[in-house]
Amino acid sequence: MRPTAKQSAKRINTWAAAALAALLLGLAQLTPAAECPAAPYADPADTGQPANLGQLKRQLINYKCFGDYARDVARALAAAKAYVEQRAGAVPRPALVLDIDETSLSNWEQMFANDFGYLAAGSCDLLPSGPCGAVAWDTSMRATAITPTLDLFNAAKAKGVAVFFITGRIEGIVERAATEGNLANAGYLRWNNLYMRPDQQYANVQAFKTAMRHDIEAAGYKIIANVGDQQSDLAGGYAERTFKVPNPFYYIP
Ligand SMILES: [Mg+2]
Repeated sequence: MRPTAKQSAKRINTWAAAALAALLLGLAQLTPAAECPAAPYADPADTGQPANLGQLKRQLINYKCFGDYARDVARALAAAKAYVEQRAGAVPRPALVLDIDETSLSNWEQMFANDFGYLAAGSCDLLPSGPCGAVAWDTSMRATAITPTLDLFNAAKAKGVAVFFITGRIEGIVERAATEGNLANAGYLRWNNLYMRPDQQYANVQAFKTAMRHDIEAAGYKIIANVGDQQSDLAGGYAERTFKVPNPFYYIP
């Protein structure tokens, strides 16, 4: 029996609804969430081949969203604070060196929106679902304080320790005013100096940062602690102690 015109229309509507639902489900699986999941991901381990990139991203989300990252950051900064407070009075002209990104300021909103990819160009108009270009993000001054580092910063200043920021952000790309403004927005006030990387002048980030610490000590300061989230922040000397803040989200050699 042939369907009536009314029955055909109803079937077409049902198929259209099913197709739309399938499309939306597919998009939901492809598009990174704008917020943390309700429960940690629990994926089966993959062996015998390089780690699965999608699984690694979900491990990073678990690490950040369910407290382990905050715990590890707090642990690293508590050790730095104890050392700085202990040494501040024992050293003439003591100084603390802080890296900025993922040490003093968190870019989690941008990293998460970009599904952990690095995108230099593009606006951030689509946040929080993303994507968001790195230059526009830095210029927006929206990065938030990593609270235990702000606590260290204030404790150091209270003890008369000079505080210097050394960042791999490039002077000509991310304007100094935007970086200074973001530091102020996050509560980092009355620091001593901010060293930004001049383009093309150093072999790599580590060489630049080491040279700046050399200059700080050549000016008569003693760097008692150097705090960063990358080994390239910390290698090269010119600090009594180094403190590594966890960052499994990206790598700067
Ligand atoms: Mg950093």
